[in-house]
Amino acid sequence: MITRFAPSPTGPLHLGHAYSALLAHDMAMAAGGTFLLRIEDTDTARCRPAYATAILDDLTWLGLTWAQPVLRQSDHLPRYAAALTRLTDLGLCYACICSRSDIQSALSAPQEGVTHLPCDGAVYPGTCRHRGLPVTGTAAIRLNLDQALAHLTPVSDYRFHETGPFGFGQHRLDPRPLRRDVGDVVLARRDIGTAAYHLSVVVDDALQGVTHVVRGMDLFAATPIHRILQALLEFHTPSYYHHRLIRDDNGKRLAKRDDAKSIAKFRAEGATPADIRAMVGL
Ligand code: GLU
Repeated sequence: MITRFAPSPTGPLHLGHAYSALLAHDMAMAAGGTFLLRIEDTDTARCRPAYATAILDDLTWLGLTWAQPVLRQSDHLPRYAAALTRLTDLGLCYACICSRSDIQSALSAPQEGVTHLPCDGAVYPGTCRHRGLPVTGTAAIRLNLDQALAHLTPVSDYRFHETGPFGFGQHRLDPRPLRRDVGDVVLARRDIGTAAYHLSVVVDDALQGVTHVVRGMDLFAATPIHRILQALLEFHTPSYYHHRLIRDDNGKRLAKRDDAKSIAKFRAEGATPADIRAMVGL
Protein backbone atom coordinates (compact mmCIF):
# COMPACT_ATOMS: atom_id res chain seq x y z
CA MET A 1 0.00 0.00 0.00
CA ILE A 2 1.28 3.45 -0.92
CA THR A 3 -0.64 6.43 0.47
CA ARG A 4 0.16 10.10 0.31
CA PHE A 5 -0.65 13.42 1.91
CA ALA A 6 -0.59 16.15 -0.72
CA PRO A 7 -1.04 19.59 0.81
CA SER A 8 -1.02 22.83 -1.16
CA PRO A 9 1.14 25.25 0.85
CA THR A 10 -1.34 28.12 0.75
CA GLY A 11 -1.77 28.44 4.51
CA PRO A 12 -0.94 26.85 7.84
CA LEU A 13 -1.70 23.21 8.56
CA HIS A 14 -4.94 22.94 10.49
CA LEU A 15 -6.84 20.15 12.21
CA GLY A 16 -8.45 19.00 8.96
CA HIS A 17 -5.08 18.53 7.28
CA ALA A 18 -3.66 16.85 10.34
CA TYR A 19 -6.53 14.35 10.25
CA SER A 20 -5.92 13.64 6.57
CA ALA A 21 -2.18 13.20 7.03
CA LEU A 22 -2.50 11.03 10.16
CA LEU A 23 -5.09 8.81 8.50
CA ALA A 24 -3.07 8.30 5.31
CA HIS A 25 0.04 7.65 7.40
CA ASP A 26 -1.65 5.21 9.79
CA MET A 27 -3.31 3.27 6.97
CA ALA A 28 0.02 2.77 5.20
CA MET A 29 1.82 1.81 8.42
CA ALA A 30 -0.91 -0.67 9.43
CA ALA A 31 -0.49 -2.39 6.06
CA GLY A 32 3.32 -2.35 6.19
CA GLY A 33 3.23 0.08 3.28
CA THR A 34 4.71 3.45 2.39
CA PHE A 35 3.52 6.94 3.23
CA LEU A 36 4.49 9.77 0.87
CA LEU A 37 4.39 13.52 1.29
CA ARG A 38 3.87 15.63 -1.81
CA ILE A 39 3.88 19.41 -1.89
CA GLU A 40 1.34 20.59 -4.48
CA ASP A 41 2.76 24.01 -5.20
CA THR A 42 2.09 24.67 -8.88
CA ASP A 43 -0.17 27.62 -8.07
CA THR A 44 2.60 30.14 -7.57
CA ALA A 45 0.13 32.95 -6.92
CA ARG A 46 -1.19 31.29 -3.76
CA CYS A 47 1.59 28.96 -2.56
CA ARG A 48 4.40 30.16 -0.27
CA PRO A 49 7.64 28.28 0.50
CA ALA A 50 7.31 29.37 4.13
CA TYR A 51 4.01 27.48 4.41
CA ALA A 52 5.63 24.35 2.94
CA THR A 53 8.39 24.57 5.56
CA ALA A 54 5.85 25.06 8.35
CA ILE A 55 3.75 22.10 7.12
CA LEU A 56 6.79 19.79 7.19
CA ASP A 57 7.62 21.04 10.68
CA ASP A 58 4.08 20.43 11.98
CA LEU A 59 3.94 16.94 10.42
CA THR A 60 7.29 16.03 11.98
CA TRP A 61 6.06 17.31 15.34
CA LEU A 62 2.96 15.12 14.93
CA GLY A 63 5.33 12.15 14.75
CA LEU A 64 4.92 11.36 11.06
CA THR A 65 7.72 10.10 8.85
CA TRP A 66 7.56 9.73 5.09
CA ALA A 67 9.61 8.32 2.26
CA GLN A 68 12.28 10.64 0.87
CA PRO A 69 12.63 12.71 -1.17
CA VAL A 70 9.50 14.83 -0.82
CA LEU A 71 8.08 15.53 -4.27
CA ARG A 72 7.55 19.23 -4.92
CA GLN A 73 5.40 19.71 -7.97
CA SER A 74 7.06 22.99 -8.90
CA ASP A 75 10.26 20.98 -9.58
CA HIS A 76 8.50 18.81 -12.17
CA LEU A 77 6.58 21.14 -14.46
CA PRO A 78 7.75 19.46 -17.72
CA ARG A 79 5.99 16.23 -16.77
CA TYR A 80 2.62 18.01 -16.51
CA ALA A 81 3.31 19.80 -19.79
CA ALA A 82 3.95 16.41 -21.43
CA ALA A 83 0.63 15.05 -20.16
CA LEU A 84 -1.12 18.16 -21.42
CA THR A 85 0.44 17.67 -24.84
CA ARG A 86 -0.90 14.11 -24.95
CA LEU A 87 -4.42 15.30 -24.18
CA THR A 88 -4.11 18.16 -26.68
CA ASP A 89 -2.91 15.71 -29.34
CA LEU A 90 -6.03 13.64 -28.71
CA GLY A 91 -8.04 16.77 -29.59
CA LEU A 92 -9.56 17.01 -26.10
CA CYS A 93 -8.40 20.46 -24.98
CA TYR A 94 -9.26 24.03 -25.86
CA ALA A 95 -7.96 27.45 -24.99
CA CYS A 96 -10.05 29.71 -22.77
CA ILE A 97 -9.56 33.41 -22.17
CA CYS A 98 -12.44 33.94 -19.74
CA SER A 99 -11.70 35.72 -16.51
CA ARG A 100 -13.39 34.77 -13.25
CA SER A 101 -15.81 37.67 -13.66
CA ASP A 102 -16.65 36.62 -17.28
CA ILE A 103 -17.55 33.21 -15.92
CA GLN A 104 -19.63 34.65 -13.11
CA SER A 105 -21.61 36.90 -15.45
CA ALA A 106 -22.20 34.06 -17.94
CA LEU A 107 -23.63 32.17 -14.98
CA SER A 108 -25.94 35.05 -14.13
CA ALA A 109 -28.64 32.69 -12.92
CA PRO A 110 -26.76 30.10 -10.92
CA GLN A 111 -28.90 27.06 -10.33
CA GLU A 112 -29.94 25.98 -6.90
CA GLY A 113 -28.22 22.88 -5.64
CA VAL A 114 -25.26 22.98 -8.03
CA THR A 115 -22.22 21.79 -6.16
CA HIS A 116 -18.94 23.53 -6.81
CA LEU A 117 -15.66 21.75 -6.49
CA PRO A 118 -13.59 23.50 -3.84
CA CYS A 119 -10.63 23.50 -6.20
CA ASP A 120 -12.46 25.03 -9.18
CA GLY A 121 -15.22 27.35 -8.17
CA ALA A 122 -18.16 27.52 -10.55
CA VAL A 123 -18.76 24.96 -13.30
CA TYR A 124 -17.56 26.56 -16.54
CA PRO A 125 -20.43 27.61 -18.84
CA GLY A 126 -18.49 26.70 -22.01
CA THR A 127 -18.10 30.19 -23.48
CA CYS A 128 -14.79 29.44 -25.26
CA ARG A 129 -15.50 25.79 -26.05
CA HIS A 130 -16.14 26.27 -29.76
CA ARG A 131 -14.24 29.51 -30.37
CA GLY A 132 -11.13 27.78 -31.67
CA LEU A 133 -8.80 30.16 -29.86
CA PRO A 134 -5.08 29.56 -30.32
CA VAL A 135 -3.32 27.77 -27.47
CA THR A 136 -0.97 30.56 -26.52
CA GLY A 137 0.82 31.34 -23.30
CA THR A 138 -1.91 33.73 -22.27
CA ALA A 139 -4.83 31.28 -22.36
CA ALA A 140 -6.01 28.70 -19.84
CA ILE A 141 -6.39 25.18 -21.23
CA ARG A 142 -9.59 23.33 -20.48
CA LEU A 143 -10.60 19.72 -20.97
CA ASN A 144 -13.57 19.34 -23.33
CA LEU A 145 -15.56 17.01 -21.11
CA ASP A 146 -17.99 15.86 -23.81
CA GLN A 147 -15.19 14.97 -26.19
CA ALA A 148 -13.30 13.25 -23.40
CA LEU A 149 -16.37 11.16 -22.54
CA ALA A 150 -16.89 10.33 -26.22
CA HIS A 151 -13.33 9.03 -26.28
CA LEU A 152 -14.12 6.48 -23.57
CA THR A 153 -16.59 3.92 -24.87
CA PRO A 154 -18.62 2.65 -23.26
CA VAL A 155 -18.16 5.23 -20.56
CA SER A 156 -19.83 3.03 -17.92
CA ASP A 157 -16.90 0.60 -18.22
CA TYR A 158 -14.70 3.14 -16.47
CA ARG A 159 -14.94 2.87 -12.71
CA PHE A 160 -13.19 3.71 -9.50
CA HIS A 161 -13.32 1.91 -6.19
CA GLU A 162 -14.22 3.86 -3.08
CA THR A 163 -13.12 2.27 0.19
CA GLY A 164 -14.16 5.09 2.53
CA PRO A 165 -17.23 5.42 4.73
CA PHE A 166 -19.23 7.45 2.19
CA GLY A 167 -20.22 5.63 -0.98
CA PHE A 168 -18.19 2.46 -0.37
CA GLY A 169 -18.00 0.33 -3.52
CA GLN A 170 -17.53 0.64 -7.28
CA HIS A 171 -18.48 3.90 -8.97
CA ARG A 172 -19.08 4.04 -12.70
CA LEU A 173 -18.55 7.25 -14.61
CA ASP A 174 -21.89 8.96 -15.03
CA PRO A 175 -21.94 11.77 -17.63
CA ARG A 176 -24.90 13.66 -16.16
CA PRO A 177 -23.49 14.63 -12.76
CA LEU A 178 -20.12 15.16 -14.41
CA ARG A 179 -21.58 17.76 -16.78
CA ARG A 180 -23.64 19.35 -14.02
CA ASP A 181 -21.08 19.42 -11.20
CA VAL A 182 -17.66 19.35 -12.83
CA GLY A 183 -17.74 20.45 -16.48
CA ASP A 184 -14.75 21.55 -18.56
CA VAL A 185 -12.09 21.78 -15.87
CA VAL A 186 -8.92 23.82 -16.23
CA LEU A 187 -5.84 21.68 -16.90
CA ALA A 188 -3.28 24.48 -17.22
CA ARG A 189 -3.49 28.07 -16.13
CA ARG A 190 -2.44 31.11 -18.09
CA ASP A 191 -1.06 33.02 -15.09
CA ILE A 192 1.34 30.25 -14.22
CA GLY A 193 1.55 28.63 -17.66
CA THR A 194 1.54 25.24 -16.03
CA ALA A 195 -0.54 22.42 -14.70
CA ALA A 196 -3.62 23.02 -12.63
CA TYR A 197 -4.64 20.69 -9.80
CA HIS A 198 -6.62 18.00 -11.67
CA LEU A 199 -3.81 17.26 -14.11
CA SER A 200 -0.85 17.38 -11.72
CA VAL A 201 -2.58 15.26 -9.06
CA VAL A 202 -3.38 12.52 -11.59
CA VAL A 203 0.11 12.55 -13.10
CA ASP A 204 1.86 12.31 -9.74
CA ASP A 205 -0.44 9.74 -8.17
CA ALA A 206 0.38 7.53 -11.16
CA LEU A 207 4.07 8.34 -11.26
CA GLN A 208 4.54 7.74 -7.55
CA GLY A 209 2.59 4.47 -7.71
CA VAL A 210 0.04 5.62 -5.16
CA THR A 211 -2.31 2.71 -4.51
CA HIS A 212 -4.74 4.41 -2.08
CA VAL A 213 -5.66 8.08 -2.32
CA VAL A 214 -6.76 9.19 1.14
CA ARG A 215 -8.30 12.68 1.15
CA GLY A 216 -11.30 14.70 2.28
CA MET A 217 -14.89 14.15 1.21
CA ASP A 218 -14.81 17.56 -0.47
CA LEU A 219 -12.78 16.02 -3.31
CA PHE A 220 -15.14 13.11 -3.91
CA ALA A 221 -16.85 14.99 -6.77
CA ALA A 222 -13.45 15.53 -8.43
CA THR A 223 -12.66 11.82 -8.51
CA PRO A 224 -14.60 11.00 -11.71
CA ILE A 225 -12.64 13.66 -13.60
CA HIS A 226 -9.43 12.16 -12.23
CA ARG A 227 -10.63 8.75 -13.42
CA ILE A 228 -11.23 10.20 -16.90
CA LEU A 229 -7.75 11.71 -17.02
CA GLN A 230 -6.22 8.40 -15.88
CA ALA A 231 -8.04 6.58 -18.67
CA LEU A 232 -7.02 9.11 -21.32
CA LEU A 233 -3.40 9.10 -20.17
CA GLU A 234 -3.38 5.30 -19.74
CA PHE A 235 -2.52 5.43 -16.06
CA HIS A 236 -3.54 2.90 -13.44
CA THR A 237 -6.38 3.91 -11.12
CA PRO A 238 -5.74 3.88 -7.38
CA SER A 239 -8.39 3.06 -4.78
CA TYR A 240 -9.96 6.06 -3.08
CA TYR A 241 -10.78 6.70 0.55
CA HIS A 242 -12.61 9.98 1.10
CA HIS A 243 -12.74 10.77 4.79
CA ARG A 244 -15.14 12.90 6.81
CA LEU A 245 -14.29 16.57 7.13
CA ILE A 246 -13.22 18.23 10.34
CA ARG A 247 -15.61 21.09 10.96
CA ASP A 248 -15.43 24.27 13.00
CA ASP A 249 -17.70 25.03 15.94
CA ASN A 250 -20.42 26.22 13.52
CA GLY A 251 -20.30 23.02 11.50
CA LYS A 252 -18.42 24.58 8.57
CA ARG A 253 -15.53 22.83 6.83
CA LEU A 254 -12.22 24.24 8.06
CA ALA A 255 -10.56 26.57 5.57
CA LYS A 256 -6.92 27.55 5.36
CA ARG A 257 -7.79 30.92 6.85
CA ASP A 258 -9.10 29.28 10.03
CA ASP A 259 -5.96 30.06 11.97
CA ALA A 260 -7.92 29.35 15.14
CA LYS A 261 -7.63 25.65 14.35
CA SER A 262 -4.06 25.70 13.09
CA ILE A 263 -1.66 23.13 14.47
CA ALA A 264 0.80 25.93 15.20
CA LYS A 265 -1.70 27.55 17.52
CA PHE A 266 -2.41 24.31 19.38
CA ARG A 267 1.33 23.72 19.69
CA ALA A 268 1.85 27.21 21.09
CA GLU A 269 -0.85 26.50 23.66
CA GLY A 270 0.99 23.38 24.83
CA ALA A 271 -1.05 20.65 23.08
CA THR A 272 0.70 17.32 22.46
CA PRO A 273 0.50 15.22 19.29
CA ALA A 274 -1.74 12.83 21.25
CA ASP A 275 -4.09 15.74 21.98
CA ILE A 276 -4.30 16.50 18.24
CA ARG A 277 -5.09 12.86 17.51
CA ALA A 278 -7.82 12.94 20.14
CA MET A 279 -9.25 16.20 18.75
CA VAL A 280 -9.73 14.62 15.31
CA GLY A 281 -11.10 11.38 16.74
CA LEU A 282 -8.10 9.15 16.10
N1 GLU B 1 -3.52 19.59 -2.84
C1 GLU B 1 -4.92 19.39 -2.52
C2 GLU B 1 -5.31 20.26 -1.36
O1 GLU B 1 -4.47 20.69 -0.59
C3 GLU B 1 -5.25 17.95 -2.16
C4 GLU B 1 -5.05 17.03 -3.28
C5 GLU B 1 -5.54 15.61 -3.09
O2 GLU B 1 -5.45 15.09 -1.97
O3 GLU B 1 -5.95 15.02 -4.07
O4 GLU B 1 -6.48 20.53 -1.21
